[in-house]
Amino acid sequence: MVFEIKCAWCGLNMGTKNELGSEFAMRLERMGLPVITHSICTCCREKALNRSHNRTRVDNKLLNSPWKK
Ligand SMILES: [Zn+2]
Repeated sequence: MVFEIKCAWCGLNMGTKNELGSEFAMRLERMGLPVITHSICTCCREKALNRSHNRTRVDNKLLNSPWKK
């Protein structure tokens, strides 16, 4: 079955993919409703990566702090 791929962050339409769907998804398709799967677009992934990169830096700082032994 065909899924519409949307970015979960900004709602950008990222095309479609063909994958085996769950029973719930197949029911939606039978009802003529669009079956949407959420992913993350390049732009938002970059933002998320930058964020986790910053978080990692903070974590490293905490790990190196004299308070945590
Ligand atoms: Zn996005």
